Amino acid sequence: MIESADTGEAALPEVARLARDLIRIDTTNYGGGRALGEREAAEYVGAYLAELGLEPQYYEPVPRRTNVMARVPGRDRSLPALVVHGHLDVVPAVAEDWSVDPFGGEIRDGLLWGRGAVDMKDMDAMILTSVADILRSGDRPARDLVVTFFADEENGGVEGSQLVVRDRPEWFAGATEAISEVGGFSIDVGDRRAYLLQVGEKALLWLRLVARGAAGHGSRVHPDNAVTRLAEAVAALGRTEWPIRLTPTTTEFLDVLSALTGLPPDDPDAIADSVGPAASFLKATLRTTANPTGLTAGYKHNVIPDRAEALIDVRVLPGTEEAALADIRRIVGDGIAIETVVRDVGLETPFSGDLVDAMVAALGRHDPDAPVIPYLMGAGTDNKALSRLGIAGYGFAPLRLPRGLDFTGMFHGVDERVPIDALVFGQRVLTDLLRSF
Ligand SMILES: [Zn+2]
Repeated sequence: MIESADTGEAALPEVARLARDLIRIDTTNYGGGRALGEREAAEYVGAYLAELGLEPQYYEPVPRRTNVMARVPGRDRSLPALVVHGHLDVVPAVAEDWSVDPFGGEIRDGLLWGRGAVDMKDMDAMILTSVADILRSGDRPARDLVVTFFADEENGGVEGSQLVVRDRPEWFAGATEAISEVGGFSIDVGDRRAYLLQVGEKALLWLRLVARGAAGHGSRVHPDNAVTRLAEAVAALGRTEWPIRLTPTTTEFLDVLSALTGLPPDDPDAIADSVGPAASFLKATLRTTANPTGLTAGYKHNVIPDRAEALIDVRVLPGTEEAALADIRRIVGDGIAIETVVRDVGLETPFSGDLVDAMVAALGRHDPDAPVIPYLMGAGTDNKALSRLGIAGYGFAPLRLPRGLDFTGMFHGVDERVPIDALVFGQRVLTDLLRSF
C-alpha cells in the first residue's frame, strides 16, 4: 500500500467517501426553480438505502426536484418516530474564487473539500453511514427513523420540503421530533471546546424593494430617478443597527457562555465575541438582520430606467415578523414598494426533554467534559416545513472541530471543507444517538 492516509482510497472512511461522492454530484440550486443534479443525488442516496434492505420512496413534486425517504423500523415501534433529514442541494460556487474544484471532492491535509462539505453533504453522509452501521451489525435503531433527503432547501424548500410536507404527510406518520443540520458542532470558548445544539431558527422574510420613477435621457436634470430612490432605501436599511432582543434560548445561551468565560451576562456582543470565528454567526442570533443581497436596474448607460429593484434577506426573531416589517417600512420610507418573495416561520423549542437529554448524553460519551449550549440559529432549515406537521426540529450534526477553523464562516462560503476525523466522530455520535434514543 503506497497511498498516504490522506488520499488513499482504501484508507478513506466510508462516511468521507459518501460525502465526497455527493459533492461530486453537482446539485447547485440557483433559486427560482433552477437547479441541477438533485435527481441523481437522490438516486445515489436511494440506492444506498436500498442496499441496506430499506425501501426508499421518491417524490418529485416538480420534475427533477427529487426527494427521497426510507423508514427504518426501530426496536420499539410503539415509540414516536424520529425524522433524520438532510438536503441534497447546495448553493452555487464560483470556481475561480476557490482553491480547489468546488465539485471535485478533493482530499487535502486530512480535510474533504468542496461545495456541500459543510452544508450539508457531510451530515447526509453521516446519516447514511450511521443507519448502515446499525443495520449491518444486525441491530436496529431504538425507535422508527424517517430518513429523508430533501430537494430545494437552499431556496426555502419551496419545491422541496414544503411540497413533501403538503403532499406526502404519511411519510412522517407517528413522528414528533426531527434532527438535521447546523448544530452539534464544536466551537472554541477560551481554551475550552463546547458544542452548540440548535433548538430554534429565526423567521425568514425575503423581500424585494421596488422604486419607481420617470424614465428619461441620462443627460437630463431628472430628480424623479428610481435608481437614486432605491439606493437611498437600500443604504438606510443595510446600515440599520438592529437592537438586541433576547428569547428564552438566547438568554440561556448567554448565561452558559457567561459562566464559561467569566464575562458579564449583560454584554451579549462581548460574550459572542469571545467565541472566536463563530462570533458574527452568533451575534446574528441576538437581533434582526436585514442584508441587501441583490440590485437590478437599468438597461443602457444613457437611459434612466423607470424601475429599480433590490433583494433584501431579512431574518427576524420568532414572533417579531410584523414588528420588523413595520420597522422596515419606516426605514425605507415612502415611495418604495415592499414585496414579500418568501416568508417562513421562526421556531423555538425548549432546551429540555428526552431527545435533548439524549443528544447531550451522546456528545458527552464521545467528548467528555465539553459543555453543550443551546442556540437559536440565524438562518433556516427544512425544520420549518416539518413544523407544519407538529414536528419539533433540532440542529444536531455533531462534529468535533479543530481549534481556529472558521466552520460557521464556510456555510455558503468559499473553500468549504470538513476534517475527515470530524466526520468519523460525527458518525459515531449519531450512530450512538440513534441506537440509544
Ligand atoms: Zn443547509
